[in-house]
Amino acid sequence: MTPILSNNYYVNFQEDAYTKLNHFILEYKPSTIFILVDENTNENCLPILLQELETSQSIEIIEIESGEENKNLDTCSGVWNALTELGADRKSLLLNLGGGVITDLGGFVASTFKRGIAFVNIPTTLLSMVDASVGGKTGVDLGVLKNQIGLFSNPEMVLIDTRYLETVTERELRSGLAEIIKYGITYDAKLWNELIDFKLLNISDLKNIIYRSIEIKNEVVTEDPKEAGIRKILNFGHTLGHAIESYFLLSEDKENLTHGEAIAIGMITETYISEALLNFPTEGLKNIKKVILNNYDKVPIEKSDYKAILELLVHDKKNVAGQVNFVLLSDFEKYKLDCKVEESLLIKALDYYNS
Ligand code: NAD
Repeated sequence: MTPILSNNYYVNFQEDAYTKLNHFILEYKPSTIFILVDENTNENCLPILLQELETSQSIEIIEIESGEENKNLDTCSGVWNALTELGADRKSLLLNLGGGVITDLGGFVASTFKRGIAFVNIPTTLLSMVDASVGGKTGVDLGVLKNQIGLFSNPEMVLIDTRYLETVTERELRSGLAEIIKYGITYDAKLWNELIDFKLLNISDLKNIIYRSIEIKNEVVTEDPKEAGIRKILNFGHTLGHAIESYFLLSEDKENLTHGEAIAIGMITETYISEALLNFPTEGLKNIKKVILNNYDKVPIEKSDYKAILELLVHDKKNVAGQVNFVLLSDFEKYKLDCKVEESLLIKALDYYNS
């Protein structure tokens, strides 16, 4: 598969990607190579990576605990301390081997350690392959508020190897599917049509869809690296979606949702709002709800949950001067940025999801 050029770095695929990585290491001559993992990628992914790495440089492994609840500054401190104790310097290289938590946190840690060391993203979940590892957003959560602390910073390269997906749970694969559905709805109706009867579990069938998804993400982020305009379409489904994700993370009596499960609810509700405000086709709305509910179990959201969810919207990063901004659609591929939505319509949208 042809490498995809992003902002000054390449996304490389399959075996060829390891050749490129080994070549980069040979040229860059890092003082030490650090590999950031969590317990799951340590067990399932690290053996594959170590087998492919051809280097005489010393390698150190740093493990953090998996989970969004660990994507925070305490974990960063742990990694900065580990780097310091293991003698990292400005010529060290960090390989982020994991899902979006590892690539977001690892990119942030690398970009701030000694004012920035080089890093490479090696995403190991579907979500991190098609979304989190490309585009230069790095960062961590602040309490339950998602991605509040971070910076734009690009990796030296991204390495995609779909073998890593073989140990990912079905639930986590579905989490990644939500971002692919988002690309279909907002950017590529042909991709959307492929997803209507899509069966997720055959990983070799996924290769082309992963490639197309990365192409889309890349086209959007290279056109608008700092999210001044079109990049905002990547937030479709994420305004209500993030608030719902945070709310479930906060509520002790509710099981956490995956990122994709929350975004799936966000896409149904935000398409409903799009139909109400911008005449998004009703048939399309019904179809989106049907396809999403074919792939994701209905999540019980009680009326008594609404108030707290809507309050969390206030912290959305896209807000300007306290105004919540939505990305809405007048049709597939036709978006309108920075839309304001009345609270009564937000409530109707949550009711529609529940109906
Ligand atoms: P994750 O990193 O928490 O991974 C999900 C689970 O899968 C974890 O338990 C992990 O240990 C496990 N895992 C990872 N790879 C595995 C493998 N190959 N085999 C077995 N288990 C494996 O979650 P995620 O869904 O990959 O990423 C979600 C994060 O990505 C969120 O924090 C979100 O904010 C972020 N994100 C960032 C961007 C961006 O542009 N930077 C975009 C989208 C999402």
